[in-house]
Amino acid sequence: MNVHDSDKVANLLLHAGWQEAPEDEADLLLINTCSIREKAENKLYSDLGALRDWKRAVAGRTLGVGGCVAQQEGDRVLRRFRHLDFVFGTHNLRFVPEMADAALQGERATRVAESRSLERFDLPGPHPEARRRTPGRAFVTVMEGCDMFCSFCIVPTTRGREISRPAEAILAEASDLAAQGVREVTLLGQTVNAYGRHDRRRGRTAEAGTMAFGELLRRLAATPGIERIRYTSPHPTFFDDELVRAHAELPALCPHVHLPLQSGSDRILERMRRRYTAADYLGWVERLRQARPDLVFTTDLIVGHPGETEADFLATLALVEQVGFVDAFSFKYSPRPGTAAAEDPETVPGPVAQERLERLQDLQRGLTLAHHRSRVGQTTEVLLEGPSRVGGRQWRGKDPYHRLVNLDLERNERCEGEVVPVRVVEATPHSLIGEMEQHGAGAERPPAS
Ligand code: SAH
Ligand code: SF4
Repeated sequence: MNVHDSDKVANLLLHAGWQEAPEDEADLLLINTCSIREKAENKLYSDLGALRDWKRAVAGRTLGVGGCVAQQEGDRVLRRFRHLDFVFGTHNLRFVPEMADAALQGERATRVAESRSLERFDLPGPHPEARRRTPGRAFVTVMEGCDMFCSFCIVPTTRGREISRPAEAILAEASDLAAQGVREVTLLGQTVNAYGRHDRRRGRTAEAGTMAFGELLRRLAATPGIERIRYTSPHPTFFDDELVRAHAELPALCPHVHLPLQSGSDRILERMRRRYTAADYLGWVERLRQARPDLVFTTDLIVGHPGETEADFLATLALVEQVGFVDAFSFKYSPRPGTAAAEDPETVPGPVAQERLERLQDLQRGLTLAHHRSRVGQTTEVLLEGPSRVGGRQWRGKDPYHRLVNLDLERNERCEGEVVPVRVVEATPHSLIGEMEQHGAGAERPPAS
């Protein structure tokens, strides 16, 4: 979500006449922040300290901070860092160009007002000079905010109330992207499959222009040029039969679901206010696998939430093994200001949480490698993202299961955004190694712009 917000701000600035420049030549520098864990928040403060010299080096340089820490701290950041010019919140992206202009006139300002209107979705289309991070792929926002208030999570504070974007605007954006060569769209939302739920509850779906999430996927799959669809992050509570059916019936819907679990213990899930049990979670995994037998799951996990005992943690390990996640983001619980868990006195000591994190990550490494090994010999299709970090003629891309694939290309021309047929020849802990199959239909398509 933050990466996509940074792109939105960059695009707004291009439309306002700014140009991209390297840091040592830039007049304007913006930091888009994350506050999901304390470490991310602290990074802002150390970066801001280090940027004092950047600001001093050339008169007229402008420095702004946006994102979730900006939303959470507001004016406090501006007061604490005298060399900072402006602070913009998560609902105020569209004001960045005017705030940057005002800063050039010497004005210091904070804009973090929460907006409940759909206006924030009305952003200009991609500027011709907008650099696509990954050609061929794009994010599309479908909803923002979160009303779930999980015990540990700061998102409802920093992102505000849930609001869903009209389907027509989402589909029009996807169509425009397809016309520019985008083949893969990832629908974004804090609880993306809760799309339109408040409109349905209030009986104003028609007026709001929203629909069930499964139906939105169906319409998107019918958009010419869109070959791959992903969505992130769904919440287990908001799966329904229609979404499961979409996985069975839409070939464009990728066979990978990132389904945050957080904990495998019912006691902790309740304490986290996650509103599902381990059995509910397994039920959806089962139904989705029946709908699409090759479906793979990745997840998010937290260890050391207040009240977590060794037995609770063992339940997490057991569930991780039972589902057989192909990958996981696992985190040590980090107390966040204003959340319910931050007030919970039954804390887990840091070294205990650290040790649990390591055991969990050990288990996951084994599961990931096992999945990679099971793929050797299979053919797959890879959407090329760019030259591999390994260098040489190696390229990297993602297969439909969202696995990273490195491969040698017998060609020198740039082919980011192309989909190529690949045979998996080797498994490594973090990626698959592939070889290109003879040119098939996918490889003959013109490169995406
Ligand atoms: N909306 C998604 C999660 C978004 S936050 C969901 O409901 O699942 C992304 C991930 O960050 C979470 O899944 C969680 O694993 C992690 N996270 C959030 N708050 C955290 C905290 N206080 N400490 C540690 N990890 C946290
Ligand atoms: Fe945070 Fe996700 Fe829970 Fe919302 S549903 S409060 S974003 S963890």
